[in-house]
Amino acid sequence: MDNLFGLTVEVLVAKCASLNIPAYRAKQIVEWMYRKGAASFDVMTNLPKTLRIDLTQSTTIARAKCVKRWDSSDSKTSKFLLEFPDGVAVETVLMRQPYGNSVCISTQAGCAMGCTFCASTLHGVTRNLTAGEMLDEVLFIDEMLRVEEQKVDTMVLMGSGEPMMNYDNVLAFLRLVHEPYCLNMGYRNITISTSGIIPGIERLAEEGLPVTLSISLHAAEDNLRTMLMPINKKYSVRKVVAAGRAYSEKTKRRVTFEYILIRGVNDRKKDVRTLASLLQGQLANVNIIPINPVVERNWERPTTEEIKKFCCALERLHIAVTVRQEMGTDIQAACGQLRNRHVEERDIFD
Ligand code: SAH
Repeated sequence: MDNLFGLTVEVLVAKCASLNIPAYRAKQIVEWMYRKGAASFDVMTNLPKTLRIDLTQSTTIARAKCVKRWDSSDSKTSKFLLEFPDGVAVETVLMRQPYGNSVCISTQAGCAMGCTFCASTLHGVTRNLTAGEMLDEVLFIDEMLRVEEQKVDTMVLMGSGEPMMNYDNVLAFLRLVHEPYCLNMGYRNITISTSGIIPGIERLAEEGLPVTLSISLHAAEDNLRTMLMPINKKYSVRKVVAAGRAYSEKTKRRVTFEYILIRGVNDRKKDVRTLASLLQGQLANVNIIPINPVVERNWERPTTEEIKKFCCALERLHIAVTVRQEMGTDIQAACGQLRNRHVEERDIFD
């Protein structure tokens, strides 16, 4: 059956036209689906009963269901495992930050990038998410917050998956959440994180959307970066940094370079120097992410003192630095960890 959830009003208007349903009905339906949380046609009381019955028979509003939930001990971070009708599940995280409610969205089920420190990639990629499925993630959280008279304020595409490997669906999703009949979310409140897929960065620069671009760098020279991120063989450090520079020149927006800090691996004095000279003079900032150790890998997080030292050394070389505030480590909110457990548990039980 045709799933209407995730369609834009334009597409729905066209669908309605082919069924001789007037355009304003399509507008009512999207409002119900996206603003009023309707999961079935029966509740759409401003549609004629006959139309509701017809729609129920010929189409569906397919939503994910939440199969697991974890809350951090301070209850600021909640992680949800959402399962789509085909049984594929992804993680979505809500972080209640001082500046508002932020959600972390997955763009693919699993990931094909193979970064050696990341749990999302251990089982490879299962499939791309559709625009509707990504919308489902954020809407699920927004609907939950509505009960408390709150909403989703900001969104980061930093869950499982590589957004640039699912470019068209991701862009369709961003345009959809921005629509007033949907979540009316400002592009400035959205961050896309990429492992440095250059064609994607170049395409995004041309879109003219004021979203924030975050590039996962994690190492300032090629051998080290290739060891951490195999995609570096294709898109090297210099090329990725140049793409970031071109993006900020084109969009006039500051690009964030993410840098996970792994003790003894990429936090040495020479790493500071190489990183600083690489980014010198660029409209950029470095976001330091102390690594979340994942059981499957053997990397260690530096001490707070060591992290501070690394950041100060970068600042002395005139690089803007922020440190990712840690949230939800007690519920394994780090990328892909929850889903892995789910996949592995299913493997055991299947
Ligand atoms: N594929 C995209 C977006 C998903 S990953 C990308 O690579 O940017 C989002 C961020 O979490 C990336 O910066 C990624 O490198 C980081 N990350 C992955 N595993 C991590 C871990 N174990 N500890 C800390 N950060 C991690």
